[in-house]
Amino acid sequence: MVEVKIKKQTKKMKEKVSCADKFCPVHGQISIRGRSFKGKVIRKFPKRVTIEFERTLYIKKYERYAKRKTKLHARLPECMFSEIQIGDYIEIKECRPISKIVHFIVIKKIRGGEK
Ligand SMILES: [Zn+2]
Repeated sequence: MVEVKIKKQTKKMKEKVSCADKFCPVHGQISIRGRSFKGKVIRKFPKRVTIEFERTLYIKKYERYAKRKTKLHARLPECMFSEIQIGDYIEIKECRPISKIVHFIVIKKIRGGEK
């Protein structure tokens, strides 16, 4: 009887260690809705990453398209911190504003960066 109890406790402990971030889409309590973007990680902070991607903008005067860059800040959940590095190609999804600049959450890593 005693052994069974100990096994159950260790299982619970492992689940807790995996993530304690309340802004985690998997373990936390935050709903994800709205737009999603894919981009390259250019900066990494504790709990936050910055991604960059290109978009095309039509210039009427020249009847041509120009390239513009967009930067977005996204929440990096604790359980994904070691997985995502600078240079990786990742997907982010919109959520409610977490802070003044963070309105997105990292969903998954699409591919690693080249070194
Ligand atoms: Zn998590």
